[in-house]
Parts: sequence; C-alpha cells; structure tokens
Amino acid sequence: MIIDCHAHFTSEPKAVLDLRAAQIKASSNEEPWPTRNDLNVSDDEIRTGIDAMQLKTQRARGIDRTIFSPRASAMGHHLTDEKLSLEWTQISNELIYRISRLYPNDFVPVCQLPQVAGIRPGNCVRELERCVNELGFIGCNLNPDPSGGYFNSPALTDPWWYPVFEKMCELDVPAMLHVSGCCNPSQYTTSSYYLNGDTTAFVQLIMSDLFSKFPTLKLIIPHGGGAIPYHWGRLRGIAFMNQRSELEEIMGSNIFVDTCVYHQPGIDFLVDVVPRDNILFASELWGAVKGIDPNTGRDFDDTKYYIENSPNLTVEDRRKIFEGNARRVFSRLSRYIGKN
Ligand SMILES: [Zn+2]
Repeated sequence: MIIDCHAHFTSEPKAVLDLRAAQIKASSNEEPWPTRNDLNVSDDEIRTGIDAMQLKTQRARGIDRTIFSPRASAMGHHLTDEKLSLEWTQISNELIYRISRLYPNDFVPVCQLPQVAGIRPGNCVRELERCVNELGFIGCNLNPDPSGGYFNSPALTDPWWYPVFEKMCELDVPAMLHVSGCCNPSQYTTSSYYLNGDTTAFVQLIMSDLFSKFPTLKLIIPHGGGAIPYHWGRLRGIAFMNQRSELEEIMGSNIFVDTCVYHQPGIDFLVDVVPRDNILFASELWGAVKGIDPNTGRDFDDTKYYIENSPNLTVEDRRKIFEGNARRVFSRLSRYIGKN
C-alpha cells in the first residue's frame, strides 16, 4: 500500500476563499466577520475540485491513501484573534471531515489548530480533542512559528507548548510541524520560509530533552526535513559540541521527515543520510510545486517515482517508507486501512 502522509485541500470552492478573505478584511477593520453560517458549499462543489485535481493525480500515480489536511498556507495564525482563528480552524477542519466521508477509501483526515501568534497553544487542546475523538482525525498540523515569519515564539521545547504535546500523547496522535503563510516580505512562503521553519524546528528538538519528558511524542518535519539531510554533518557536530547524542538516537521513534523533495538526487541523498525508519512517503499534492521538470519530463512533485528509482533502497526500505513507517507514526490510521 502507498500512503502519502502530506497533502492539503488546495482545490477549495471559491466560496471558501471568499469567506476567509472577508473574515480577514472585517477583522482588520474591527468589524463583525462572517461565520460558518455564511458559508454554503455543496458536496458536489467539493467533489468538483477534488476529482479534477487531487484525486486524479493521486490515482494516476497509484497512491492508495492520502493523509489530508487544510491548506497550510491559509491557516494564517498571525492574521486574526483567538476567536476568529477558532472559527476559521473549525470551518477548515469540517471541510476536511466532509472530504474524509465523501472519499472514505482515498483520504484520511488531519486537522489544523486554532493557534494565534503570541498566545499559548493550550487554546488548541479542545479543538484537537474534538477532531480526534468526535471526527476521527488521526493527527494535526502544528505551526512552529505562528508569527508568520518572525520566529518570535518560544522554542518548541519550551513548556509554552506542553499543553498540546500532553494532549497529543494522551490521544496518541502525531503532529506535522508545518508553518503557514509568511508575512515577512524577505521570505517566500513555500520555499525559503517553509524550509527555514523545518530546519529551525529540527534544531530546537535536537538541542533539548523534550522526548525524555514526552517519550511517545511523534513529530514530522515536512519538505524532506528542510536542510537536515544536506547539513547532517554540521548538525551532528553541533549536537556533539553540546553533549547531545547521535542524531539517529535523538530522532529515535520521535522525529520523522517526509519525502517532499522534488528531484531524484535530493531523494537519493535523503534516504542515504536520514535513517530509513524515520522517513515517511509524501508528495504534498496538489500544487505546492506545480508543473513538469523540463529536464526529466515528469512532474516535480512525483516523489513516488523518485523513491521507486532510488538506487540504494531495498524492497523492504521502500515498504517502510511507503507504508510501514506511516502506520507506526499514525497509530489511528489502522481504523481506516486495517492492520496490515
Ligand atoms: Zn504542506
């Protein structure tokens, strides 16, 4: 089975995008903003976008299940206050829930959280609990930089974040550490900012004892782990200088990276450097990087092809990356796909 652990709902009906734009505009003018009651989206409208984009590509590539969450760049934790962040988060999560019910054999739901820049993320616990216990979600996206590009929250290893980690451990769900849209004009959201977020999160984790406090906590660093594979030697050396363990030991059964790396040499490098037990297959369909690589004639984001053609992977390695590791990380996935 091929399980893609990282994809977002990027084919939203226009009404969803319009509602969010109206919310942000009203909020910034300190006017009443539209709520879920102002959104009227039919199942057919949802299907139109999913069928034409996400599902079409997923099926063409032979991906059996996709772990699916709201559009990450639209979470916008830096844009509004706590009340509106919760409203938008619940609207977004309920759309994902509907998709998981409309396509029970294709999509498995993961939620966003109602984080707000400057507010302790304990405010996210109730929504996480609701999504997991009431709506069947199997994980969450946790934004390590709710400021949207200024990295001015406490490090992920600070007790500031513990209420979310405690609830994740209690529910046995992982988080993908995924930033949202960038409001810092010096960074480009889906390249420099995303990769900075990934790399920053990893370094915070390896310099701490977080996993001795939360031994069952599981965190996924997306986009191939940012700079982790390429700078493994630097990070390993800095860990040694600070009396830390080998990176493999620190990652253990707590830190994972995905395969959203969009060229063959990058994937080959990733699987040679990062422990293969800690790599989860993902493409970030649909539309993080659109288009065909003129050098290969293939879609940039066709990561399944790169994994299948990476020369040093064994059959067993591929089985782990495509399926086995995802089953270990997302313990609740078996409710959707059975136990083997
Ligand atoms: Zn993403």
